[in-house]
Amino acid sequence: MFLPCDPTNYNIDLTTPGYMEKLFQSLGVDFALGEYQGRDAYRISCPYHPDPGPSCRVYANGLGGFNCFGCKKTGTLSDLVAHVRGIAGPTSRQEALQYIASLNGYSQYIDPFKNCVKVYEYRDRHGFVVKLKRFKGYDEPGGKIFDQTQRKPGGGFKWKDLDEKALYMLHNLDKLQFVDTVVVVEGEKAADSVNAALKAWGLDNYVVATTSGDAGTWRDKFIADLERKKIIILPDSDVAGQDYANNVLNTCIQHGLGTWHASRRMLTEWSTTT
Ligand SMILES: [Zn+2]
Repeated sequence: MFLPCDPTNYNIDLTTPGYMEKLFQSLGVDFALGEYQGRDAYRISCPYHPDPGPSCRVYANGLGGFNCFGCKKTGTLSDLVAHVRGIAGPTSRQEALQYIASLNGYSQYIDPFKNCVKVYEYRDRHGFVVKLKRFKGYDEPGGKIFDQTQRKPGGGFKWKDLDEKALYMLHNLDKLQFVDTVVVVEGEKAADSVNAALKAWGLDNYVVATTSGDAGTWRDKFIADLERKKIIILPDSDVAGQDYANNVLNTCIQHGLGTWHASRRMLTEWSTTT
């Protein structure tokens, strides 16, 4: 499956000291470090035209990019790497990105989408992927099988001994800061369904659905990202769902949040205490 072009999916941080230098060396390309319009830029001889220059500038922000002041060619760093390495075809950018990622000690590229039904991204407040939660199907009694992998700061993912802060976090955390109402559901699939409905109704600018996962995963610390929000609790209609809803409700009440518990049809406080 094709992965979206996101630095965190590829574990690429081109601003890591020595990273770009290592890339140019591995490509056999001479370079000079300079600056262009306030950001780091490397000058190389353009691989797209005969260039005693060097007139091609390569940038190390995000997934990287380049433009040539000689032949006017512009593109992504992956385009440049694919061209130099002779990689062609519809997956050339992906292959080039995997090559770039491998230079950062991430040689064993693991496709997080492999052998699973669905992958849910958990991002921090700034939008960077902290962990991936994978739904891998159903076991014999019909229970859902999940596993989780946490992004390591230096690149790559770790599959065991996840940090506490990654184990328990809110789904759609990066979107919570932009809305005034949060729908708390049980499970990522339910959150996605609610968000799809909100989007269809044009309400996604001020309401977002979130979850911490299944019934046992609610933590009081989540309140830090829910302050001054209106909270709607939509629990699963089973015993575990009610317990989950009660945990959410108790946390919200303790912190004076306006909370509506959908299954109880109970207006506890509707944003009057905040
Ligand atoms: Zn050129």
